Amino acid sequence: MTFLHIETPLIESGAMSVPGGQSVWLKMEAMQPPGSFKIRGVGFACETYLARGATRFLCASGGNAGIAAAYAGRRLGVPVVVVVPETTTERARQLIRRERAELIVHGASFQEANALAESMVAPGDAFIHPFDDPLLWQGHAGMIDEVARTGLVPDAVVLSVGGGGLLCGVLEGMHRNGWTDVPVVAVETAGADSYAQALAAGRTVELPRIDSIATSLGARRVAERAFDWSQQHVVRSVVVSDFAAVAACMRFMDEHRVVVEPACGAALAVAGGAHPSLAGCKNVLVIVCGGVTATVAQLQKWAS
Ligand SMILES: *Cc1c(COP(=O)(O)O)cnc(C)c1O
Repeated sequence: MTFLHIETPLIESGAMSVPGGQSVWLKMEAMQPPGSFKIRGVGFACETYLARGATRFLCASGGNAGIAAAYAGRRLGVPVVVVVPETTTERARQLIRRERAELIVHGASFQEANALAESMVAPGDAFIHPFDDPLLWQGHAGMIDEVARTGLVPDAVVLSVGGGGLLCGVLEGMHRNGWTDVPVVAVETAGADSYAQALAAGRTVELPRIDSIATSLGARRVAERAFDWSQQHVVRSVVVSDFAAVAACMRFMDEHRVVVEPACGAALAVAGGAHPSLAGCKNVLVIVCGGVTATVAQLQKWAS
């Protein structure tokens, strides 16, 4: 198999840990070639669909999933079409084009772009979903295999939730490594809290709109599997403000010299903030999911 993702570093954060108290371990998915964990699942799905005979990949995401699909297609020599809504930033468009994917800009929101992409599916095409596909979860799960191989068994795992693909993959990895009683802290920003609202309602719910700068968390409804996991595993839902997420990005930039999106800052805000959901935990694993669609200038603007 072609190696599309890399084995990422696992680093103990001096800045986020409390000496003699809590150690915070960073799984540095921000270091993946296309800049986020997405390449694990998207790459695995693309390789699997290629082996099944796919001749083109279709994806509807103006964010890191579209960038990962474009990257995977270029590396595998398979043409890629990415349909994005008009709201997609110029930077994300550039990154998709830079990977030589065909970019189609259509519609006011993800829903319209996704509908066009679905209507374009022809024989030989594989549709790459940004979060709701078991192949994606299987690919994401590999990051936990890598942590388990180091011998670390954390007392909690902190991660961000958009549509819940990362959550499903991490939980799959945790279960196949025997971490069945390690709680997961699922973090969202206010205005993109479709998982928190699903847990409160007892079923998945559709948000009327997304109202957060953490656009990579902006799934109006989470995957059913993500909700189902909450019935089978201890999942603590936490919602933070956009401000806290951006502040955590700025701190992370200073302390670890790495730029991440507010979508990732949400998890960092909880992991590095002595949050009550982590009380009593000696070792905390935080998935530094990354993201490339926010520039330093944009982060500074949000922070001020
Ligand atoms: C996609 C993404 C998320 C959310 O992942 P889901 O699988 O949709 O829950 C979080 N952070 C970044 C940087 C992402 O690209």
